[in-house]
Amino acid sequence: MQDFQSLGLSDELLLAVEQEGYTTPTPVQAQSIPPLLNGRDVLGVAQTGTGKTAAFALPVLQVMNRSKPQGKRHIRALVLSPTRELAAQIDERFSAYSEHLDIRHKVIFGGVNQNPQVRALEKGVDVLVATPGRLLDLIGQGYIDLSSVEFFVLDEADQMLDMGFIRDIKKVLKLLPKRRQNLLFSATMPKSIADLASSFLHNAVMVDVSPEEVTVDRIAQKIMFVRKADKRRLIVKIIKQEKVSKGIVFTRTKHGANRLVKQLAQSGINAAAIHGNKSQSARTKALASFKNGEIKILVATDIASRGIDVNDITHVFNYDLPNEPESYVHRIGRTARAGKSGIAYGFCDDTESGYLVGIQQLIGFEIDVDETHEFHFMGAIPKPGQKPGKIKTASSGSKKNNSNRNKNKRRSNQRQSRPQQSNQKSGNSNRQRSSNKRRNRNRSRNNQN
Ligand code: AMP
Repeated sequence: MQDFQSLGLSDELLLAVEQEGYTTPTPVQAQSIPPLLNGRDVLGVAQTGTGKTAAFALPVLQVMNRSKPQGKRHIRALVLSPTRELAAQIDERFSAYSEHLDIRHKVIFGGVNQNPQVRALEKGVDVLVATPGRLLDLIGQGYIDLSSVEFFVLDEADQMLDMGFIRDIKKVLKLLPKRRQNLLFSATMPKSIADLASSFLHNAVMVDVSPEEVTVDRIAQKIMFVRKADKRRLIVKIIKQEKVSKGIVFTRTKHGANRLVKQLAQSGINAAAIHGNKSQSARTKALASFKNGEIKILVATDIASRGIDVNDITHVFNYDLPNEPESYVHRIGRTARAGKSGIAYGFCDDTESGYLVGIQQLIGFEIDVDETHEFHFMGAIPKPGQKPGKIKTASSGSKKNNSNRNKNKRRSNQRQSRPQQSNQKSGNSNRQRSSNKRRNRNRSRNNQN
């Protein structure tokens, strides 16, 4: 098996890696580091949890360290990340890996006062990690100059596009010098990402660490058929019975996440919610309390959770099954990190059985069903030959009878569920889908930056 030394890393970086306790490069590291050290562009299909941050940070640091420009520091490496959490995590990794180098890095994102960020920029940084909104904002105010960037890293590119950042990315690309090394990482590689990649990568080495293979087979998965109204009691029961010490619960909506946190509190379970409507400080605090074990349960929506790297998550609950099958794979990938085992429960009610069909088609097998629990509900089991996708419910069929409240609720569900690439057909017309996506993007951008 390969070690870090054989990848051509310098002594300073080998020491940092050793101090982090890494002994063997992960596949994405083994495949990306050598070509990056040789000046090649890299297109990586890898999600968080595969070790992709070190795969780009180590070679970028090493190449930057080879030559040091005279005078004041200027931005030589720019890393773009879709979410504040991921940006903060990447920056924290740069701290660890650059421990023995004279390289200064800084993270900037929205939702917090810009002044400390501006002060750091004025002192001079070598590596800038940023979310697109704050980056363009500070460029507009004249605090950031990208004309000396040697490395451009676009991380979680698929999420960037889902969140509507494509125009921001294009604006940033125009401000970069022509001669530079490019890296693009994405959990999935739909055509939109392939097109984006080909627009700015040159003769890139393709590194593919398929996320489905990485995550799905190491994780114990169970489906529980249950009425919507019983989900809350079911989750309380499991959390208590299994003494869950670090569990993440996915709900479809921000509102649903808040409500569940309150309901869990009523049952004596201390939980916190993390989603785009929470202030940055609330999100940071919730995540920190979850990481250090003060809070055992984190309730999250997809956008807020994607990319979050918390070790030792023992349980993932799909409290609401995701309507996009790929989200299921991302969600359950929160557990079973770094070879550890974990369990993923999926609660499927009678409106979600089509989602289950889509998920099982994507992962290629039927998930084990646990029907031993007291809330087992036969009515939620997919019917023979059932198609993937949304089930038409009585309420979605008879609009006249709907109360305004239900309409608003549906709208809010549509707005808040994260759009992703999928072959699956849904009940919505294309026009509806694209206007939902536009709404979604605008909201996501507001929430994230
Ligand atoms: P990432 O996919 O970059 O978010 O990394 C996921 C986690 O894996 C982080 O906690 C890293 O510290 C850890 N990690 C990265 N590379 C290695 C490695 N070669 N061996 C062990 N852990 C690693």
